[in-house]
Amino acid sequence: MRNALTATAVHPTHPQQAGVIDLRGRLRACHVDERAAWFSLQEQLELALQQHAHELHFDEEPSCIRYRIRSTFATTEHQLPLDNPLRTALALLGKQVWPNDADELSHRAWFLIKVADQDLLFQSDHVKTSGGTAITLRPLYDIKNPLPQLEKIFALPGQANIVRENVQRHKGLILLADTDRTRRVRTARAISQCLTGPDQRILLSETNCHPLVPGVTQIALPVHASEEQKLAWQQACDMSYDVMIALESNHDVAQHAHQKSLVIQGVCTNTPGLALTQLIANGARPESIARSLNSIFTQHGIGLACQYCKCPTIPDERLERWMHRHSPVQSGAISDWLADRLTDNFVQTPGCASCHDTGVGAVTTLVDSIKITADIQEALFDADVRFATHALDQQAGVENQIIALARIGKISFLHAVQYLEKYKFQAH
Ligand SMILES: [Zn+2]
Repeated sequence: MRNALTATAVHPTHPQQAGVIDLRGRLRACHVDERAAWFSLQEQLELALQQHAHELHFDEEPSCIRYRIRSTFATTEHQLPLDNPLRTALALLGKQVWPNDADELSHRAWFLIKVADQDLLFQSDHVKTSGGTAITLRPLYDIKNPLPQLEKIFALPGQANIVRENVQRHKGLILLADTDRTRRVRTARAISQCLTGPDQRILLSETNCHPLVPGVTQIALPVHASEEQKLAWQQACDMSYDVMIALESNHDVAQHAHQKSLVIQGVCTNTPGLALTQLIANGARPESIARSLNSIFTQHGIGLACQYCKCPTIPDERLERWMHRHSPVQSGAISDWLADRLTDNFVQTPGCASCHDTGVGAVTTLVDSIKITADIQEALFDADVRFATHALDQQAGVENQIIALARIGKISFLHAVQYLEKYKFQAH
């Protein structure tokens, strides 16, 4: 028990720690035959990050390596020939991060690598497939950077305040919903940081390699947590903390939400209705949720228009349709509607050298805060989950936020259409 708790103070600036493999020195000292391969891996990682990638997939197939780069707004696919140096690099990487690949079918590891003069931490997942190996790489963060503040995560005006006011004012349960785990973890850490104070005891469930947040008790609870780690978390939850933040819905903490403490529960979804059903699927009773649930934050990653190539444009039919649905012309207020439309400032971003042809200048996070109204609370007391999820989804305002951002030229209208289509697809 004592070991499980003390083993949690893991910091990636100490590359010697178990779990994080430091490839920075190894790349400099490698054999001359391997140099071209490692160089191509560094180059590919740099190119992917320039495109704001948050996930890189490599799938070995008999005739090629299928390489997909996923970012918030696009997925691009390349087919690499088998004699590509990147293939050698992936094999070398596999040897470093997964030395005993004969005994396991899958393996997760973390490695440090220098990309464009930055020390970056990547998470790598290797899975054996019928064709060879499938590899997923995810950039976690620059280890030299300080912990992010809410203002840095939610770069748009007012967004950070929505979160801060909610977490500082309320007790009870708040759900933090995001399909992207890295984004959810970043926000959870930033919230824990903004709540620290001499009178606050804060508990945070953490991943294997996390930065230390001063003034916060962090318990490592990785995806494949050991029984000892799970026990350490449960025991810590019983120690009357003022704030408890759990990164995953199976870090069962919702039961501790009551009048005296604030519980923030991470869930892997991006609509408020699904966040509620996920909580119920994990064993929380609708009646106790009704007593404690205060609000649901849903997060979405969006790319802001590149300021160097953005130029005025008019929206196409699809966006017009969405705008019409979200702000229909009120009878008797046509002149107001027209005046409103005259201030519209739609942009498109054809791409330039500065944004590496992505049209995106920076990636930021949008947050939507959903209130638990009296009728939702009543429905939960009656165990009418269907009504509650519907009423929550009706309140979701992320579509309006995206339209508003397109109208003031903060995001390109084409990206707005993509987000709206993606969001609509996931919500229904
Ligand atoms: Zn540009």
